[in-house]
Amino acid sequence: MSKIIASAAIRGTHKLVKTAEEMLEKAITEKGKDYVFEFPDTAFYLPMIYAMTAFPVKTLADMKVALGMAKEMLHPEPEEHLWKPYLGETLDCGMATLFAEEIILALRYINGLEPTVDAETGYVYNGFITDTIQRNLGIQLVDGRMPGFAVIIGAAPDEDTAVKIVRELQEKNILIFLCGQARDKNGNMTNVTRQLLRKNIELGWDTYIVPLGTDTEHAIYAGNWSIRASLIFGGKKPGDYKGHLKYTKDRVFAFAMVLGELDDIKWSTGAGAINMGYPAICDTDVPVIHPTGVCTYEHVDKELDHSKIVQKAFEVRGLKVTVEKPPIPVAYGPAFEGERIRKEDMFIEFGGQRTPSFEWVRTKELDEIEDNKVIVIGADWKEKYEKGGQMPLGIVIDVAGRKMQKDFESIIERRIHHNINEAQGLWHMGQRDLNWIRISSNAKKEGVTLEHLGVIMTTMTHNRFKSIVDKVQATIYTDEKDVLSVREEARKAYKERDHRLGSLTDEAVDTFYSCLLCQSFAPSHVCVISPERLGLCGAYNWMDGKAAYEIDPTGGNQPIPKGTLLDARYGRYTGIDEYLKKASGGAVESLNLYTIMENPMTSCGCFECIIAIIPEANGIMIVQRGHTGMTPAGMKFSTLAGSVGGGTQNPGFMGIGRNFIVSKKFLHGDGGIKRIVWMTKNLKESLKEEFSKRAAEEGAPDLMDKIADETICEDSEKLVEHLAAIGHPALEMEPML
Ligand code: SF4
Ligand code: ZN
Repeated sequence: MSKIIASAAIRGTHKLVKTAEEMLEKAITEKGKDYVFEFPDTAFYLPMIYAMTAFPVKTLADMKVALGMAKEMLHPEPEEHLWKPYLGETLDCGMATLFAEEIILALRYINGLEPTVDAETGYVYNGFITDTIQRNLGIQLVDGRMPGFAVIIGAAPDEDTAVKIVRELQEKNILIFLCGQARDKNGNMTNVTRQLLRKNIELGWDTYIVPLGTDTEHAIYAGNWSIRASLIFGGKKPGDYKGHLKYTKDRVFAFAMVLGELDDIKWSTGAGAINMGYPAICDTDVPVIHPTGVCTYEHVDKELDHSKIVQKAFEVRGLKVTVEKPPIPVAYGPAFEGERIRKEDMFIEFGGQRTPSFEWVRTKELDEIEDNKVIVIGADWKEKYEKGGQMPLGIVIDVAGRKMQKDFESIIERRIHHNINEAQGLWHMGQRDLNWIRISSNAKKEGVTLEHLGVIMTTMTHNRFKSIVDKVQATIYTDEKDVLSVREEARKAYKERDHRLGSLTDEAVDTFYSCLLCQSFAPSHVCVISPERLGLCGAYNWMDGKAAYEIDPTGGNQPIPKGTLLDARYGRYTGIDEYLKKASGGAVESLNLYTIMENPMTSCGCFECIIAIIPEANGIMIVQRGHTGMTPAGMKFSTLAGSVGGGTQNPGFMGIGRNFIVSKKFLHGDGGIKRIVWMTKNLKESLKEEFSKRAAEEGAPDLMDKIADETICEDSEKLVEHLAAIGHPALEMEPML
C-alpha cells in the first residue's frame, strides 16, 4: 500500500477519533455517563463494535470504553494488543475508523441530528438500518434477487451521469447506498442523492436506492448493516472478529464506488471497507492498490470512464450477474418492482374492481399453442387503449411442456405479479380475478402497449420456468363480453385448484422438500417443507418446492423421501432425520415437525414470525417481524430473533411462516392452536377467517377472543391474570415443561 495513502488514511482516523471524543465528552457533560442509548430497532447495540468485540455499548460510559479500543488500534505496536491486524497494516486504522464513525453517528442520534435532513432539499435520509429491514431483505440476498450492494460515496460530475450509474446498478439488481459529498464538474459541493432528486428519481428501499446521509461517515450504516448479516444469518458469535470479517468478505458481495476527489476521511473509511473485504472503485486518478495476503482482488481500483465504472466494480469484486429481461421499451428488474403509480401519473388501469379483469395460467398440449405468440383480442383495442383511462382486461397464459404439471399452474400464475411489477412504469396488485394493473403515462410515452404485457409474460415465463415450460402463448382479452365469459372458465379452474390444495396433507404424500437457499447465509439451516408446513420465510410452500425441484434438480430444493413415521404426534420421520444429518453438515441429528419442545426446526433468520414458550402461562406466544413493542416473553422481536437464528435448534423457540399458524399440524404435538395465549393484533387480523375455522374444528370457536394481544398486556404477569379471568383453555392443558 502506498505510503501517501496510508498516511492519509491514518490522518483520517485520527480526525474521526478526535471528533468522536469531543462529541462524547460534551454528551457526557450534558447528559451524564449513564445516559442510555440504542439505535432504532436493533438487538445488536452498536453493531460493528459488538460484532468485533462482543462488547455491548449501552451507555455513554460504554462508548468511552469502545472509543478506547479504537485508540488502542492506532497504537504503534499492534502485536501487543487484542487487535492484531487481520488483513494487513491498514486494519488498525480502518477498523478504528469504523468504531469512531459508529460512535459519532450514535451521538448524532442522541443530539437529534439523525436521520439527516438535507439542508438543501429537505429530504430525510434513511439513517440507521433496522434489524427488521435486515431480515426483510434476507431472502432477496440469498435467492439471487439481490446479488450484492454498492456504497456510492460522493457526487457524479453531473446529474445525468448519476442517473446512468444508478440505473445500471438497478438493472443488475444491486442494492445502492448513498452517502458523502464531492464537487461536481462545475465545482459545486453536492451528492448523488441530490443529483437523483433533481431528476425525480424515486428513492427508497422499494427502488433499491437508499440514501444514508450526507457525510462519508454515514457509510458505517452500510457497514454495520452488513456485519449483522454475519450475526443474524451466519450464526457467527459476537467477538469472533476474524469469523465476521471472513464472512463479509466471502458472502456479502459489496463494493464502494467513490465519485469525485478523495479526502482523508474517505481514505480511512475505505480502509475500514477493505477490512470487511469490500474494494473501492474510484473515478479519479488514484494509485491502484493490489492485493496482499489472503485478499485476491484489488483493494482500490480506478475507472475514469463512467460508462464502464459499474462493469469495472463487478470485475474487481468478482460479481457475476446475468439479467434476463423481456424486449420492452422500459427498464426491467426487481428494483422497479416497488414503484408506485399514483393516479396523476397513471395513463390507464385495468381491474381493481373498476373494470372486469382476471389472469389465468392454463396447461395446453404442445401442439395446441404457438411458442412466444402474443394475441390481443377485441374490436378497435388499439384506439381504446390510446384513449387511456380504464379498460377491461383478461390475461390468459397458455403453457405446454413435457414436464409441465397442472400443479405448477398456480406457481407460474403467482409470478405474474412480479413479471409485471418489474417493468418500470407498470404496476400490479392482487391475483386471479381480483387483480389490478396500471400503466404510467411515462411508460406509455416510452411506447408500452398491451402487446408488451403479453411479451413480458412469454419471455419471463420461459426464463423462470425453463425446464418445465417448452412453449408459452399469451392471449389478452379487451372486450368486456370476452373478459366476462373467459373469466367464468378461469373461476372454475381456480376452484378445482383450491380443492386439490386443500386435500394435500402430510400423510397424503410420500415426499417432502427441503429448502437450502438460506444456507448461503446460514450454513447449517435447512427448511423442511411439507404440505402442511411452509418454509419459515413464508415464501415457499410444498408445491413451490416440488416445482423448483423439477425446474432445477440440483438446486436449493431437494426431495426428502419421508421414510417411516416414528412419531405421529411430534411428526418425526426416518427420512427427514437421515436427510438432515447430511444436509445440515451434522448440525441437526433429528427433527420433529410438529413441536417446539424437542428437536424443533432450526431457523436461519428470515422467519416471518417467532413462537416462544411462556412457561407461566402454560402456552406460547407469537410475534411477527416488524412488531417493535415488548412481548410477554420479556423480549422484543429483535431480541428474540437474536436467540433463534443461525441454524440451531432452540427448544421453546422457533421461527415460522405466518400461514403455519392455521395449519392442522401447527404445534400438533404440543396441543395445537389452543396453546396460543398471546399473539399480536396484526396476526389476529390477518389470519382471522382461517383461524376461526381452525378454532371451531378444535372445539374452541371463541379461542381468538381469549388470546391476549399487545392492547391487553405486554408482560407475563398481566397475561396470566387475563388468561385466568377469561378462562383460556391452555390453563387446563397438560404442562408444557
Ligand atoms: Fe430460506 Fe427456508 Fe425460505 Fe428457503 S424456505 S428461503 S431456506 S427461509
Ligand atoms: Zn432464511
